[in-house]
Amino acid sequence: MRYGSKRLGWIFALVVLVPGILLSVIAVRSIDREEAYIEKQLEGTLLAEVVYLASLVETELGRIESELTDSAPVDPLADPGSVLVGWRDASALVTSPFLLSAQFEILWPRGNGDLDEGELSFLRWNSDFLSNRLEVPVFENIALAYKDEIVPPTETEKRSVGILQQQAKSQFEMNEEVQQKLYEQAFEEGRAAQSRLLLPSAPAAGQQEEPPPSIFISRDLRLDEITKDRDQGLIPRFVEERLSLLFWKRLSDGLIVGCVIADAELRDRLISLIPDVYTAVRIITLVDEQGRPLAAPEEIEARDYRRPFVARECSALLPLWEAAAYLTDPGAVSSQAGRVAGVLWALISILFVSILVGGILVLRAVRAEVLLARQKTGFVANVSHELKTPLTSIRMFAEMLETGRQTSEGKRQEYLSLMVSESERLTRLINNVLDFSRMEQGRKHYAMEVLDPVALCRELVDNQRPRYEQNGFHLELRVRTGEEGGRGAAAAETVWIQGDPESLKQSLLNLLSNAEKYSGEQKSIEVEIRREGRWVYMDVMDRGRGVPAAQTKRIFEEFYRGDDSLTAKVRGSGLGLAITRRILRDHGGDVLYIPREGGGSIFRIQLPVVDNQ
Ligand code: ADP
Repeated sequence: MRYGSKRLGWIFALVVLVPGILLSVIAVRSIDREEAYIEKQLEGTLLAEVVYLASLVETELGRIESELTDSAPVDPLADPGSVLVGWRDASALVTSPFLLSAQFEILWPRGNGDLDEGELSFLRWNSDFLSNRLEVPVFENIALAYKDEIVPPTETEKRSVGILQQQAKSQFEMNEEVQQKLYEQAFEEGRAAQSRLLLPSAPAAGQQEEPPPSIFISRDLRLDEITKDRDQGLIPRFVEERLSLLFWKRLSDGLIVGCVIADAELRDRLISLIPDVYTAVRIITLVDEQGRPLAAPEEIEARDYRRPFVARECSALLPLWEAAAYLTDPGAVSSQAGRVAGVLWALISILFVSILVGGILVLRAVRAEVLLARQKTGFVANVSHELKTPLTSIRMFAEMLETGRQTSEGKRQEYLSLMVSESERLTRLINNVLDFSRMEQGRKHYAMEVLDPVALCRELVDNQRPRYEQNGFHLELRVRTGEEGGRGAAAAETVWIQGDPESLKQSLLNLLSNAEKYSGEQKSIEVEIRREGRWVYMDVMDRGRGVPAAQTKRIFEEFYRGDDSLTAKVRGSGLGLAITRRILRDHGGDVLYIPREGGGSIFRIQLPVVDNQ
């Protein structure tokens, strides 16, 4: 039995505990990653928005360029002042218009005319550049500048320029080695990249503390180099660290007309590209070369716009400008992760507890089944033996009588009574087994009648007494059915109960037989019947070794046999008490075990009294 439980324990550990623990460990690990996972997801979504915004900015710049190309004066030479001022007044995009000769001579505004403050400062900052004396940095996407080195030449022939550019950009973005190599190469060629202004904090950006280099590298060019091979364009110009965008267009006679694009209008147009600057989750905006957002919600606490969650540089025409996304509530990710983790923890705990409880229940059920199976096996062995023993003695005595060799009448009588008692034992056993199977199948019927329990008891005890006395037992019946109950008033009143006499006899016989079987040395059995209030009690008492406290509940279970040395010596089916209890409960009564003072057992039958007699 021990060995069996140990093995069950192993199976339990293997089938329930180990998978349960493994499952929990996996779940706990995934909870740990929950925050990073949510951040990663957010990063993906926001990056898509930001990339989209950057592409909108690029498109808008193209649109602005063509708008200005269309609106630029065609023949301003005759009266540059009024034509250019007219252009400025007509277009919100235009401030500080200018006109250059084919040789980069500033034709308008002229320093000697009566210029306003704006025109004067324009000249102050731009005249060197416009008259082709000063080089300015011109920016280019590094991936496009070196696209031939990124994309293999075999592909260069096959694809269109647009696709090649896209391919170069994405390969540059994905490959850190290529990035490093090209930045070094650009540096050697004097085309350095500035550092970005913004330092994204999303997981992909890692733990870096320094903003990464810009994807736009610059080289210094003069105006003639910039305008060579082209008819119009935009030029970003940093003046005192402020960015302004110049527009230029070559006219038919080689003249160049242009303007500074109005900063406010440019910003307004770009801001209007952002569909929804502010939501509960994120803020999306453009950040200018000073690290300031073009549009931002009003917030109680100042936000560090240089630390976005994700950001993308927009255009080579707006170096240092970035499309950036911020988490509206930076703590939201961890609190959301916390919430998800809470739910997961709860689920895991429920899972674990149910696995454990389920496992324990299954284990107990299996254990009970194993025990029952074992008891049944024991039962079959015991019953076979129980059947065989009386049969063998009956047969032996019958044969002895048959031979007629035994002439003494006394002996013959003894043999006959032994045969009777053995067949009674056999009958009792068979009755028990049959009854048990009937009860199991729900086919047990009682022939109920109103009867006198005292008479029933007396008849039974009187019948059994000779046999018990033969076996050296003293069997005594005490009747105390007086109203005072138990005070010695013998048979003062007849008590009636309702019951099936055969079943009740069988119950009493089972108890008597147990008293005999488990009595040991002191062979004294007492049966006491008495009435107390609405109950009749029949106590079967012996002076045997009693039932150990640990077994008192179990002895009434089917197939249960006490496992000690005494029981081991005594054969039995383990059904007697179970059937007795079932019969009595079916009669509205019960059978109980009570330890007897001075040693021994009391098995007490209790049955309800009926008073219609
Ligand atoms: P069986 O006697 O065939 O084993 P029972 O159902 O009649 O089966 O009894 C169950 C167990 O209860 C016995 O195995 C024995 O250990 C214990 N028992 C029953 N009657 C007595 C008694 N009078 N004294 C001591 N133990 C008893």
